[in-house]
Amino acid sequence: MNFNYDVIVVGAGHAGCEAACAAANMGSRTLLITMDMNKIAQMSCNPAVGGIAKGQIVREIDALGGQMGIVTDKTAIQFRMLNKSKGPAMWSPRAQSDRQKFIETWRSIIENTDNLYMWQDTVKELIIENNTVKGVRTTMNVSIYATCVILTAGTFMNGLMHIGRTQIQGGRISEPASFGITEQLSQMGIVVGRMKTGKPVRIDGLSIDFSKNIKKEGENEFHKLSYLDFIPRPLQQQP
Ligand SMILES: Cc1cc2nc3c(=O)[nH]c(=O)nc-3n(C[C@H](O)[C@H](O)[C@H](O)COP(=O)(O)OP(=O)(O)OC[C@H]3O[C@@H](n4cnc5c(N)ncnc54)[C@H](O)[C@@H]3O)c2cc1C
Repeated sequence: MNFNYDVIVVGAGHAGCEAACAAANMGSRTLLITMDMNKIAQMSCNPAVGGIAKGQIVREIDALGGQMGIVTDKTAIQFRMLNKSKGPAMWSPRAQSDRQKFIETWRSIIENTDNLYMWQDTVKELIIENNTVKGVRTTMNVSIYATCVILTAGTFMNGLMHIGRTQIQGGRISEPASFGITEQLSQMGIVVGRMKTGKPVRIDGLSIDFSKNIKKEGENEFHKLSYLDFIPRPLQQQP
């Protein structure tokens, strides 16, 4: 284990995976630290990528050499081009992905990127000397140093979940929140706030009478989220 890197990325969610790959691909020796390596790029809410405005962003990430569009195309189980009734400037690509395969595909990309290393742990503190971030300290009490630290902790820092009237501390369901960094940032005068996400209720599929529903198929036209050339959408498409 090396304890010195050019870049440390905290949190292997969607943002952290892209940041880590970008840094490593540009030649920086990069360490991606995350709580749970089996939940790399876990889709927190609906397993959808793209949609109005977001679809354009995914294609911009693709144009800049990012991975999200590629991973989405490889794991898509339904693709639709939204807003087709309007002109092409209004079209928005959106895919539903297989949640588990999305994680596996991202993990494989990270494991096969040169200069990129992973460490499963929780960062509890930034190491700051002379007003400059020098690295991070983890809950396993490991100090790791880098020239640059990127925080991509998503909904986890001091995360609070509301289920009905019950409040539970957590990053997302069944996962702990992370504590320490928020307090440190506020002590340094950085204003921290909390943003809200929302999740619709989950329904047991076995309890639904699907004959009373309108079936919505995906589209077979082979638009993709990535412009790169590989066999698109290898998984069986689902309604
Ligand atoms: C219930 C729910 C519903 C949501 N619904 C939507 C939605 O409909 N649309 C939408 O756009 N967004 C939604 N979101 C927000 C969603 O989290 C983001 O869109 C997306 O996941 C953000 O990606 P991210 O990479 O920033 O963070 P995340 O995907 O949250 O990833 C953060 C990663 O950092 C790791 N981490 C955090 N702190 C530490 C630490 N201290 N040390 C080590 N690792 C750490 C975590 O383990 C995690 O792997 C929802 C979130 C939740 C929880």
